[in-house]
Amino acid sequence: MAGKFFLIDTTRCMGCRGCQIACKQWKKLPAGETKQYGTYQNPLDLNGDTYRLVRFAEHPSKVNSVTWYFFTDACRHCLAPPCKKKADQIVKDAIIVDDLGAVLHTAKTKQLEKSANAIKQSCPWSIPNWSSKKKKLAKCNMCVERVEVGLLPACVKTCPTGALNFGDEAEIKKLANQRFAAAKKKFGGNVQILDAKDVRALFLVLDDLPMYLKSA
Ligand code: SF4
Ligand code: SF4
Repeated sequence: MAGKFFLIDTTRCMGCRGCQIACKQWKKLPAGETKQYGTYQNPLDLNGDTYRLVRFAEHPSKVNSVTWYFFTDACRHCLAPPCKKKADQIVKDAIIVDDLGAVLHTAKTKQLEKSANAIKQSCPWSIPNWSSKKKKLAKCNMCVERVEVGLLPACVKTCPTGALNFGDEAEIKKLANQRFAAAKKKFGGNVQILDAKDVRALFLVLDDLPMYLKSA
């Protein structure tokens, strides 16, 4: 398998949104007008101009008045990508997996535009969005243009806390095990690594995923 992996250690995330902005800046994606939706999260979801989004959820806490759940969301670069399986039924190899393991949505075809919603729905996390400007499905590409010349993805490079990590499989899985053990010792309870056998973006979390996606 090899290739590259992310470790997203949510226990270290402070919700600064540096990763979200770094992604926008590197990819030259326009900012969207911010709105108050009753949450600190902006925008409300990933879109054709937003490939990484820091989700904010708040829950009542016995210790403090509120506990924040921060979740920097983007493509997981699945090992057997459901989006590719779906797209292959429409246009063969419209989505490819490169040597790094990055899942790349490359094709610009009318046929794919018509099926963009079906491809989005095939993704367990509804990640890709049709970009009407780019005329293609838009999402994180693992910053392959940086990684291929020995640089880190822009989001990882900018993260100030060690929440975002990137590297070879053995290195990242070793780090994931170390961080998991440390989190289990410190927080106990429901510490887990989400979908570890299926994805290249390993999320270390303190609770089940829905807690990170929706406020109480
Ligand atoms: S997370 Fe979604 S968009 Fe990314 S590779 Fe997996 S199925 Fe495709
Ligand atoms: S840059 Fe790091 S600490 Fe800041 S929101 Fe992103 S993952 Fe969290």
